[in-house]
Amino acid sequence: MSLKQQIHQALQHHFGYSQFRLSQQQIIEAVLDGNDVLAIMPTGGGKSVCYQLPAVLLPGITIVVSPLIALMKDQVDGLLANGIPAAYLNSSQSQAEQQNIIVKALNGDLKLLYIAPERIPANSAAFFDFLRKINPSLFAIDEAHCISSWGHDFRPEYLKLAVLKDVFPHLPVIALTASADDLTQKDILEKLALHHPQVFVSSFNRPNIYYYIRKKKDALGQMSKYLAQHPDDSGIIYTLSRASTESLAEKLRGQGYMAACYHAGMDSGARNRVQEQFQRDEVKIIVATIAFGMGIDKSNVRFVIHYDVPKNLEGYYQETGRAGRDGLRSDAITYYSAGDIMKLKGFITIDGNPQQTSIARKKLDQMQEFCESECCRRQYLLQYFGEPAPAYCGSCDYCLSSLEEKDVTIDAQKLLSAIVRTGERYGPAYLIDLLRATGADKILPAHKELKTYGVGKSLKKEEWQWLVKQMLQNHMLARTDDQYGTLLLNDKSRSILKGEIAVKLVMKKENAEAQEEDAVYEKELMKTLRQVRQEIADAQHVPSYNILADSTLADMATFLPQKPEELLLISGFGDYKVGRYGTAFLKAIKDYCASHNLQSRMPLVKTKRERSTAPKEKKLSNTMQVTFQLFQDGNSIVEIAAQRNMSPTTIEGHLATFVENGELSITKFVEKDRLATILQVIKQSGQTIALKPIKDLLSDEYTYGEIRLALAYYKYVN
Ligand code: ADP
Ligand code: ZN
Repeated sequence: MSLKQQIHQALQHHFGYSQFRLSQQQIIEAVLDGNDVLAIMPTGGGKSVCYQLPAVLLPGITIVVSPLIALMKDQVDGLLANGIPAAYLNSSQSQAEQQNIIVKALNGDLKLLYIAPERIPANSAAFFDFLRKINPSLFAIDEAHCISSWGHDFRPEYLKLAVLKDVFPHLPVIALTASADDLTQKDILEKLALHHPQVFVSSFNRPNIYYYIRKKKDALGQMSKYLAQHPDDSGIIYTLSRASTESLAEKLRGQGYMAACYHAGMDSGARNRVQEQFQRDEVKIIVATIAFGMGIDKSNVRFVIHYDVPKNLEGYYQETGRAGRDGLRSDAITYYSAGDIMKLKGFITIDGNPQQTSIARKKLDQMQEFCESECCRRQYLLQYFGEPAPAYCGSCDYCLSSLEEKDVTIDAQKLLSAIVRTGERYGPAYLIDLLRATGADKILPAHKELKTYGVGKSLKKEEWQWLVKQMLQNHMLARTDDQYGTLLLNDKSRSILKGEIAVKLVMKKENAEAQEEDAVYEKELMKTLRQVRQEIADAQHVPSYNILADSTLADMATFLPQKPEELLLISGFGDYKVGRYGTAFLKAIKDYCASHNLQSRMPLVKTKRERSTAPKEKKLSNTMQVTFQLFQDGNSIVEIAAQRNMSPTTIEGHLATFVENGELSITKFVEKDRLATILQVIKQSGQTIALKPIKDLLSDEYTYGEIRLALAYYKYVN
């Protein structure tokens, strides 16, 4: 068997995954080839497997240095749950416990030994002697940025690792981190003195995290609505002040949620308790200041909410990154208000350090720009971190909110006329006030006599702002470069004023909130599976997600496996777990299927396996696959909608995707003649985004459903 096949088999057998993520495979190959490696991967990217899998295949023991004590126990529990002998040594253990583990290590009974850096004594010779005796074959340095004083979390104990390569020159070292700018990266390589290191930097894109920025109006109300729709989910809510973590947690408990607060003002005992309860799912929601999260390795965090806007995009990325480590869809929601930014601006003044203050301010400005920008959030974020990204991700509020094209000629003319009548001397804020007859004391008396005064009341301030922005982008308007941003006319504006050209702009649909995808799994079954998992976890005294991740439960509740062989095809089930827990889960699934008259959907599983990082594949999400299968089985749109408790429009949308990629023939939905007519009208309308303009050009007998599907076909053939 080739090395490739061998590591692939080990991934399936020991960890229950059928595919590698990001650069896991290359990293593992490099390590097994005996190379020193620096692996930079985003949080949740799957760094652990990069050393755990080699540890299983290599003879002897792998030493893992990790600074996060809470995380260590978790990792070891996870390994044990997969049948891999592992242990840890840290200051939380008694002398006897530590001795016991040392004996195990000396006897060669362990594959992995986790060690906290503070366990390495100042006189490290004796320690390295011990290491030599237990015959290590690999060193893994987790959170490797802690060795660098350039990083954001410097830990002097890490510097003791600098002699590692002197003592064990022939053993490979793998250093892992989620955050390393160039400087830190170089520093890690130097301090650890890695030999010809291979460096792997993975994309920072987290495709399973959906980004939403919401205007903060009544944040508690907005949030309650979200939580009510996700009652079983676990999540983190970040606020900026200790007081508000407490009051918010209190309010949520009042609403019946298992919520707790966490902030730096609590004593460490209380903090650890909360953290542990969260890990064990005894607390579902943590309301925290940014102090929370560094040691959190909970894979099933389904949402991260920023109740207050964070201070910079680095923090935002890191905090939102705590969601969805299991690769399952998760939401990152930020409630944003310009007022909050103003408040923060006051906070971040760093006394006596104008330079740092100015950097912090700049970062805050960028945060604001991110929240206010009218473009794909993911693109903005990735570009901020220096990674190229497409303009459309399909999974952020901007990309999801439906846009529609509108004729706004009249409004544009009102704006232009206000500019002309005030002598091209004002910026958008004044002009919008003038049009809406607001901010009366600011408006010059003479301007109140103008015909345009107050003619723009029908649009909201934000709508005028959007219009201005769009007109500028489309060169229908000009602007001075100075700080005033005075609006000026150009040739195109003059043609608009004369009515020679119409202004059609893509406008945000009113109240268009991004649609959230319906959960595809059987919700009731999911609940039962959670219970089964909880029982197993309780019996073994480990957090439930160490038994199986939420994503694995969701896969079971989607694909309904009936036999152990089928269970093996579910991501997260290796041989060991199937043997140990398979029966209990299969029974629950079979009972559910029998009482609901459902069949296994395992033939669909292939797509799930290919659930990879490419956003394109989102198009064929599981929920769509289920619809597709039901349609192929001969059910009508209405029947599928009824069965799945979804609207026919949603089902049509699913099927349209398959028409668009050519997997379903349009003839199943629209008659030939009617199709020809609709296609012609699509061309005539000159756009393929909005359905309404097309519908308006057709007689009433054509339905939106037909138009939607015909449009999909149009995209397929064009
Ligand atoms: P990191 O340390 O990079 O933050 P972890 O190693 O904790 O990430 O992995 C995050 C989650 O992804 C864990 O639940 C892990 O079991 C899971 N995971 C890792 N590799 C894979 C893979 N190849 N396929 C599916 N899930 C994986
Ligand atoms: Zn997007």
